Amino acid sequence: MSWNERQRRMLAAMGLRMFAPAASPAAPAAAASPADAGTAVAERPVEAPAARVSAPVAVQAPAPAVAPPRAPVTPARAPAPASAAPAVAAVADAAFAERAAHIATLGWGPLQDAVAACTACGLCESRRQTVFGVGHAQADWMIVGEAPGEQEDLQGEPFVGPAGQLLDQMLRAVGQSRLAASGEGREDDQAGDPARRVYIANTLKCRPPRNRNPEPDELARCEPFLKRQLELVKPKLILVMGRFAVKQLLKSDDAIGKLRGRVHRYEGVPVIVTYHPAYLLRNMPDKAKAWEDLCLAKATADGL
Ligand code: SF4
Repeated sequence: MSWNERQRRMLAAMGLRMFAPAASPAAPAAAASPADAGTAVAERPVEAPAARVSAPVAVQAPAPAVAPPRAPVTPARAPAPASAAPAVAAVADAAFAERAAHIATLGWGPLQDAVAACTACGLCESRRQTVFGVGHAQADWMIVGEAPGEQEDLQGEPFVGPAGQLLDQMLRAVGQSRLAASGEGREDDQAGDPARRVYIANTLKCRPPRNRNPEPDELARCEPFLKRQLELVKPKLILVMGRFAVKQLLKSDDAIGKLRGRVHRYEGVPVIVTYHPAYLLRNMPDKAKAWEDLCLAKATADGL
C-alpha cells in the first residue's frame, strides 16, 4: 500500500475527509496552529468545534526515499529552561530519594510489582487498580500518555476505550502496533519485531478521582516509575501525548500547539509532542495536526 493510500485510510479512520489534488506538488504544511488549549486530560468536557475540515489536508506523508525531516531539533535534553516554571513539584525528602534510587534498580517484574503495591500518593486510595504499561519491552517507539481514565482504571491497561482505539488506528497508519502480529503481547513481552511494536505507558499509574488534573506532588511521586520504564525499554523515539506527559518529560508548561512540529530530546532520545487521542476525539480539526506529528515521528525514526 502506498503512503498516499495509507494516509487517506488513516485520515478516514480518524474521521477526516481529505481533499488531495492528485497532480499538485506537495503543499506547505497546514496553516500554523494557534496555540491550543494544550489539554489532553481525557474526559474534561470541552465545547466541540465544527467537525469539518474546509482546507485541503496538506500533509506530506514520509516515504523511505524522502529526505529526513527538516523540523528544528532542540538541543540535547537539558533541565528545564530557566524561564520555565517548574512543572513537577520537587519532592526532596530523603525517603523519596531513597525510594527513587531503589526503583531505578528494578527489572520489569519487580517494577510492575512495585507499581501494583504503591501507596506513595493519595491516588492509591481511589484507584481500582494500577495501570502499568503494555507493549514490546524493547520497542523502538515508546508512547507516553497522561493519567488513567475510567476504562484504564477498570481494565488495567493504558489507552483503552475510544481514545485507545483511535491511538491504535493512528499507530497502524505508520506501521506500528501495541500488540504482536499474532494478536499476542501484553506487558513486558518481547514478541514480534521491536521496530514495529510500541511500548505504551502513562505518566501516572493511578486514576485521579473523576479524572481531575494530576497534582504536581502526584506527578513527582510517580515519576520514578516512568523513568525506569524508559530506562528499561531504551526507546529510539518517544511520542508524548498530552499536556501532563509533556510536563513530566520535557519539564515545560508550554501548550502542545507551541511544542509540536519539532524534535525535542529526553536524555538524548528524540521526542515528538502531539495531542492526546481523547482530545482529538473532541477536536476534529486537530486530527490533521496529529497526523503531521505522526509523520514527523516516522520520518525522525527512519532517519536515525
Ligand atoms: Fe504510586 Fe503513582 Fe499510584 Fe501515586 S499514582 S499511588 S505514586 S503508582
